[in-house]
Amino acid sequence: MRFVPFIAIVSALAASSCISADVIVLKNGNRIVGMNVTEDGGRVTYQTSAGQLSIPKAIVARIERDGFSSSLADGAAIAPPVSAPQIEPAVGYEEIAQKAVHGGAVDYAYIESLESGARTGAANAINKVAAAHYAAAQFFLATGDSESAIEQYQQGLEFAPSNFGLLMNLAVLYLRQSQFTQALNPLQQARTVSPDSADVYKLMGWAYYGADKTGEAIEAWKQAVKLRADPDVVEALKKAERDQALESSYREGETAHFDLKYYGGAAPELARGILSALENDYNDLQSQLDYTPPEQIAVILYTGQAFADITRAPSWVGALNDGRIRIPVEGLTSVTPELARELKHELTHSFVGQKTHYRAPTWLQEGIAQWMEGRRSTSDAAFLVDAAKKGALPSLGALDGSWIQFGDENASVAYAWSLAVIESIIDRGGIGDVNRLLDAMASAPSPQDAVQQSLRMSYGELQQQAIDYLNHAYLGN
Ligand SMILES: [Zn+2]
Repeated sequence: MRFVPFIAIVSALAASSCISADVIVLKNGNRIVGMNVTEDGGRVTYQTSAGQLSIPKAIVARIERDGFSSSLADGAAIAPPVSAPQIEPAVGYEEIAQKAVHGGAVDYAYIESLESGARTGAANAINKVAAAHYAAAQFFLATGDSESAIEQYQQGLEFAPSNFGLLMNLAVLYLRQSQFTQALNPLQQARTVSPDSADVYKLMGWAYYGADKTGEAIEAWKQAVKLRADPDVVEALKKAERDQALESSYREGETAHFDLKYYGGAAPELARGILSALENDYNDLQSQLDYTPPEQIAVILYTGQAFADITRAPSWVGALNDGRIRIPVEGLTSVTPELARELKHELTHSFVGQKTHYRAPTWLQEGIAQWMEGRRSTSDAAFLVDAAKKGALPSLGALDGSWIQFGDENASVAYAWSLAVIESIIDRGGIGDVNRLLDAMASAPSPQDAVQQSLRMSYGELQQQAIDYLNHAYLGN
């Protein structure tokens, strides 16, 4: 499980500008990146891209200045920790699986023969059909083809609508694809089959939470905890209850693709401005990234007081990805150019996360998000080329995972380097190459494999391409 930094944008801003950022370490272990951190009376005040914020000193453990501090790599896109329960749908499964999938392909003729046997309604024959479709689905999952896997589960369920294993596996696949409302159908059926399953309620909670139905999510998770102790669910439940406590005082705005909540203090015209900016961004990203998120995206704006309320909670940093874009807007009354860039940046994370089923490496997430917000390598090109000559640039492999441990300087390089790599890809093959890369990420065994499959390059070759591009595009070499 990873922490999702609440003020995601701040780290991007801090890291990619020349201003040094400090880190405020809270007593609960969470970390806030901010600029110009000062202590004043009972409060710690700091600067973010969204204006000045302050928190009670009582909740701060220490402030880490420069060099020693770490920047939080923002990631809007963390998958819910759901896993398909290990369920064998039939006795003699191994034998059926071997007949259903062999020689690197699904034997549809064999599955059809089982299906015609099952039309008599005999329980044993129906179980065999379920087992065969389950095996076929596992085969497709192993090759990264989630769509075909979903089809297999659905076909199995036509014959065996009460097969718990098929229902739960189908639900997990929908959840991984952010199809929260879709996931509820098999889960409701699974609850009928097995009313005392903690797993069913756990997954239902995820589905409701993802679909922005906090009240229903809380009910489901309470039931899950009643049936079985589960620390993941307890954490999720606490977080949802905090959200709900604030939601009662939120005002709401809704458009076709967004559900925006904001705490009383924010100006309605700011909310309207943000929604209108997000709708434009959405249309642009939809066409550029050739992807449409299946559900409305939740956005929450925080003003100072709400922000402080949340930081007092034991875990204001999202420990789970709920797909919600959370933005501090203290002091703003309209969409400034800076805020507009942040909105586009954060929305890009949602698109990239969902399109890749949350498998995009951090350099890809941050590179595309910066590119989409309009940032270019102009002022960083000379530095990056020089660093490459000295062998001081990190390899892309070192930027695949979380950046949380990076100090400011390393994070700053990581952001700039990631942007340069994306620019070079777009320069060579257009946005189409980025989309091929994202599609490959969704299914390839590793990010390096995805680069190889889609761009026909190793990480080393991609790095060289980026340096060549910087030299050529910015330095006249
Ligand atoms: Zn970012």
